[in-house]
This record gives sequence, structure tokens and C-alpha cells, in this order.
Amino acid sequence: MADLSLRQVRKSFGNLTILHGVDLDIKSGEFVVFVGPSGCGKSTLLRLIAGLEEPSGGEIGIAGEIVNDVPPSQRGIAMVFQSYALYPHMTVYENMAFGMKIAGESKAEIDRRVRQAAEILQLTKYLDRVPKALSGGQRQRVAIGRAIVRNPRVFLFDEPLSNLDAALRVATRIEIAKLKDTLPNTTMIYVTHDQVEAMTLADRIVVLKDGRIEQVGTPMELYKKPANLFVAQFIGSPA
Ligand code: ADP
Ligand code: MG
Repeated sequence: MADLSLRQVRKSFGNLTILHGVDLDIKSGEFVVFVGPSGCGKSTLLRLIAGLEEPSGGEIGIAGEIVNDVPPSQRGIAMVFQSYALYPHMTVYENMAFGMKIAGESKAEIDRRVRQAAEILQLTKYLDRVPKALSGGQRQRVAIGRAIVRNPRVFLFDEPLSNLDAALRVATRIEIAKLKDTLPNTTMIYVTHDQVEAMTLADRIVVLKDGRIEQVGTPMELYKKPANLFVAQFIGSPA
């Protein structure tokens, strides 16, 4: 069964249509990358899935339930953005624990999950530091940790590496690839305009252009059989 399904999902702002009837099924545990040029509607699509925007039409299903009317906090989704707003006065530990504290989790459960996430992300040494005392890559890992501790069913990443310099981008990308192996049952959707990130991370790639899906396939399928010139150029296939 599909973990996430989009049926004719549309979005307009005023009379400007940003997404024109997107249809897509994502399986449980799949790592799917949405790729496409700036402005094609990638972030809008993620925000619709997360429930941060309402679709103008169509249906969004998670685990077999239509969630159009389900508030973001009850969708089992966690989102990591490019600008990782950490609380500056809190330690790494407190930053990761904060959401669970609010949700009323026990101290022992909070501690267990924070330490587990820190282990996965190699942040154990930094739990007592404040964000200011961390590198950009470490801060982004804390932001990812904050999402992991919530045990999301679906993990959404919106260009999480775009604020990092080239070397850190590679290191953090490798970290995210490991995350995919560590959390094999978590469905992950990863937005980027970077072809290399898409080709190296994805089980399947969804190529978007002007609010429409141009092609869906494995990196190899897109590379070998691009549906059109746009996909070929974007993926970098030999034409
Ligand atoms: P991407 O993430 O692929 O770069 P976005 O989803 O952010 O693209 O934006 C797609 C288009 O929708 C852009 O033209 C953007 O200006 C427009 N857009 C996004 N959010 C809003 C909004 N709240 N109001 C009006 N236009 C918006
Ligand atoms: Mg965007």
C-alpha cells in the first residue's frame, strides 16, 4: 500500500496556478527526491503534504487516510528546512528534546530518543553545546535530530544542504544517505534543485517543471530513458 498518495493535487495563489493536478504514489520506506528548477513548485508541494498550505483541489493521503482536513501536527510528518532555526539559548540536547517536552513525553523517553538520534547523527559529543559553538553542518544535523526524535512516519527535507559550503554539503549528504539506512521504514521526500544530490540519494526521482510532473523513475531509468529533452538536460543524460 502507498504510504503517501497525491491525487490531482492542485494549488493556486490568486489566479496564478502553481501546481496543476499532481498524481503520485510513494511506498512506505521509499526515499523519493523532488527535483526541478527554482520556482517549479517543489516547496509548495512539500508544504501541502505537511499541511502548512491547503490544496486548491485534489486529495492527499497518508497511510490510507485522506489528510486534507488533518492538522499538520497529526499527520506523522516532520520537516527539515534549509534555514534551520535552532533555539540559540538552548543546548543541542534541549533543542532536540523541546518538541517532546511540549508533547508531554516522560523524561526517560525523551532521554532515550535524544541519545539515539545523537548517536545516529554523530552529535553525542556536542549535546551540551549551544548552536553558536557548532559548525553549519553540525547545526543542520541538530535540525535533522529534532525531526528524528519525533519518530515521523514521513520525513520531508526542503533543500537541507543549500546553506552549506561545498565540502559540508557532501559530508551532510553522506550523513543523510546513512539516515536512510538507519531508518528503513521511514518514508523520505527530499527536495533539491541539485542533480547530484538527486542521483545519489534517490530510490526514485520525480522531475517537476512548471508545477507538473515531467517524469518519475529510478535515477538509472531517468538517465537511460529520459522522457524528454528537459529531463535529459536536467539529469545530464547524454542526449
Ligand atoms: P520551488 O520550491 O520549486 O523553488 P516554490 O514552491 O517555492 O518553488 O514556488 C513556486 C511558485 O509559487 C513560485 O513562483 C512562487 O513565487 C510561488 N509562490 C509560492 N508561495 C507563494 C505564496 N504564498 N503566494 C504567492 N505565490 C507563491
Ligand atoms: Mg523551494
